[in-house]
Amino acid sequence: MPPAYPKAIVFDLDYTLWPCWCDTHISMPLKFISHSEVEDSYGMRLRLYKDVEMIIKELKDNDVYIISASRTATPYIAKELLQRFHVSGRPLIEFFDSMQWGQGSKVKHITKAAKELKLESSLEKGEFILFDDEYRNRDVLSINCEFAHVDERKGLDRKVFEKALKIWHHNHKN
Ligand SMILES: [Mg+2]
Repeated sequence: MPPAYPKAIVFDLDYTLWPCWCDTHISMPLKFISHSEVEDSYGMRLRLYKDVEMIIKELKDNDVYIISASRTATPYIAKELLQRFHVSGRPLIEFFDSMQWGQGSKVKHITKAAKELKLESSLEKGEFILFDDEYRNRDVLSINCEFAHVDERKGLDRKVFEKALKIWHHNHKN
């Protein structure tokens, strides 16, 4: 059976898509190494976690909305990273249908994204999953968004992705 997908998937950025806090660990400017690797001004190299590219591509191929929700204090660094990392030859940033960044709860970020994409009823029906490494962001359950915890040592990977889809499918099948 092909996997079932929710209407929208929301990704945190730091320690979900890449292994650092982009507001404190990265020192600009960034140097190009390849479309999957950058180097900051201190020579620290950064890549996406290894399964991120494949997962983003799979979601796009299956018409799932992709949203980012981040509390980052330096959106310009996050934005530059998303422009530099490529998926299928295109900047990763182009794969996001909505980007909601800034201080405060992800309840706020996700509510705003749903409104922007006219997906309020899908959110109400439980058609959203948030992948995030911080347990405090589980408060999104209050708006009926499923929460999938990402282990910050591994980041988003196939295993956590498939497990979350399974749990979501089990919880929301009619
Ligand atoms: Mg995070």
